Amino acid sequence: LSLSQFPLGRRLPCDIYWHGVSFHDNDIFSGQVNKFPGMTEMVRKITLSRAVRTMQDLFPLEYNFYPRSWILPEEFSLFVDQVRMMKDSDPAWKPTFIVKPDGGCQGDGIYLIKDPSDIRLSGSVQSRPAVVQEYICKPLLVDKLKFDIRLYVLLKSLEPLEIYIAKDGLSRFCTEPYQEPTLKNLHQVFMHLTNYSLNIHSGNFIHSDSVSTGSKRTFSSILCRLSSRGADVKKLWSDIISLVIKTIIALTPELKVYYQSDIPVGKPGPTCFQILGFDILLMKNLKPMLLEVNANPSMRIEHEQELSPGVFGNVPSPVDEEVKVAVIRDTLRLVDPQKKKRKEGHLAGLHMVSYKNKIDVKSNYLMCYRCQALEHISEADEELLDTGQTDRPGYDSAGSPEADLPSLCLKQVFPKYAKQFNYLRLVDRVAALFIRFLGVKGTTKLGPTGFRTFIRNCKLSNSSFSMASVDILYIDITRRWNSMGIEHKEPGMCLQAFVEAFFCLAQKKYKSLPLHEQVALLIDFCEYHLAALDEKRLVCGRG
Ligand code: ADP
Repeated sequence: LSLSQFPLGRRLPCDIYWHGVSFHDNDIFSGQVNKFPGMTEMVRKITLSRAVRTMQDLFPLEYNFYPRSWILPEEFSLFVDQVRMMKDSDPAWKPTFIVKPDGGCQGDGIYLIKDPSDIRLSGSVQSRPAVVQEYICKPLLVDKLKFDIRLYVLLKSLEPLEIYIAKDGLSRFCTEPYQEPTLKNLHQVFMHLTNYSLNIHSGNFIHSDSVSTGSKRTFSSILCRLSSRGADVKKLWSDIISLVIKTIIALTPELKVYYQSDIPVGKPGPTCFQILGFDILLMKNLKPMLLEVNANPSMRIEHEQELSPGVFGNVPSPVDEEVKVAVIRDTLRLVDPQKKKRKEGHLAGLHMVSYKNKIDVKSNYLMCYRCQALEHISEADEELLDTGQTDRPGYDSAGSPEADLPSLCLKQVFPKYAKQFNYLRLVDRVAALFIRFLGVKGTTKLGPTGFRTFIRNCKLSNSSFSMASVDILYIDITRRWNSMGIEHKEPGMCLQAFVEAFFCLAQKKYKSLPLHEQVALLIDFCEYHLAALDEKRLVCGRG
């Protein structure tokens, strides 16, 4: 493995590009890159909330792992009205809400409120888009402290969908004992927010010298404790796995739109993979809730510490090392082009390039580190994360150069469990229709002509739904989406607006069925007519 840094970019082709920020760090036409186009935009608080909400509209029960959320400022009155209605119907409900600025990180600008009228909508904040969501008041506590989990997930491929989850993660602790929110303690960030970057400034922060103590521990050490208390750790893992798969299913439709726009079919381009950081909160009843997804999770394995009064320096962090080194090592093993080349009989060298690299791990360390995932976890989730041969295609076989390496800590969960989750992938199929009618390559928005062609080719217009009504539908929905003020430089209908129009059409055509059935029927209808059209064109072409 030859790993070099090219801070100014590099023209010669590489096998793997390791970008520090996004897909667009450097122009690439081949190899593999560790970022998907559009991922940074997709995991922003507002975009993620929207994508999950679309799925909640279709499958409310399956997507109840994400707190009820509203987008500010545009849904402020909806938020006020809905909260009032819910309070009226259940006077015992005394909610707390958390307001998070869009695009913020590390707890920046976050605050808690008891009443919708406490939102800081005045002055400059008004223009700052944010998400307000129901605050989870009863989190699971360990040592009386609130904590969250950072899990690393490898999205190895979008088409076909391939997802891996790391067997171990980090648990990040608050530094003040937790109390349920009251007007008196709402502002106490060390009690309510688990961000490392905040709690490090608390006098109570304890740098962990083992994986099971201090303010940052391994998730497996928490699982050990829970299982010794008799908790069903196997069920917890299976819930976490389905949370991760469902979240990625919510993100894939828009990611595919970005992908075809940056890497059009038939043009030379790289393939992509990406390590994502999932932030998950466990409720008291052990139900995992998704807080957010990070497109660029920190891979630091050191932390800053005051070595002597006023003197700060970087010292190794054993907990970070334990978890992160294994994630990077396994990612490189899984995307290793040598593996493919070996199969094809080539012996070309592997070159890897990194830009503005955040990985502090030494490259030789990557290959010799032992993954020490606790045995009881792999036993507990046997059915979901079994360690059988199917999990390690091509690995650890006698005689292979990898025979001496530790077993993989990244476990494949998709397509492994595809059968259980494929029924949720309706919006993916709507996105495929959208992409088909986008026309000119390189765009992410559908023009009015593209929308009309979609309606005509899918035979959706009839005497009760004229082409004039089609145009009105297009204009109404597009105008509303484009007035919402996020990245709307390009005119036209974005995927989310198309999805809304599609749901409208489905409701019109198949009245009084649940929404997901209406949408599934309309997709079948469209796909059927498009397949018939393609066949006709093929026959005519031949003729
Ligand atoms: P940031 O990107 O700024 O870290 P997060 O969405 O991760 O924003 O929120 C910061 C912290 O606030 C989380 O780590 C968690 O401790 C707490 N938090 C966020 N959302 C909720 C919620 N809905 N209920 C309870 N705690 C939450």
